[in-house]
Amino acid sequence: MKQPDSRTPAKARPGNGRSRPARGDVDARMLDRIRAAAAIVRIRQEALYDRLAGQFRAHLGDGSGHDRKALESAAAKARADLVAAGAASPQLGERLATFLLRDLDPAATHRHTGEITSPCTLACTRCGATLQLARTATVPPCPRCAMTEFTKNP
Ligand SMILES: [Zn+2]
Repeated sequence: MKQPDSRTPAKARPGNGRSRPARGDVDARMLDRIRAAAAIVRIRQEALYDRLAGQFRAHLGDGSGHDRKALESAAAKARADLVAAGAASPQLGERLATFLLRDLDPAATHRHTGEITSPCTLACTRCGATLQLARTATVPPCPRCAMTEFTKNP
């Protein structure tokens, strides 16, 4: 491996802790990069959820009072559309369809950090802090106590 040259400016050697003033700064920068990459994945999955929901509504058609079987059938078709279009892997399609069907189930009142949910208000099951999600979002940790379980209110 090539040895670092002390005359080389620090910016030319990303990730080389020796050319930086403090180890903590390098860790912070690395963490920022990881956070940015994770945010891109989150935003992409949230957009895919919305796309799935759009396809789902198209397959379900007009009217109300659809039974569970009709919802599942429309979700399966919407998921297949996404996978066929190359927008999602079968695994991701399955995961998003599960989240979609759960959001349509009034009895499914729990959400966990990392899951995608439709707009709602979440209440932390430990400290009661509430989180208002105005759009489709990935559930964050509780902003007050960092716990990961919530109850969902419309
Ligand atoms: Zn909490």
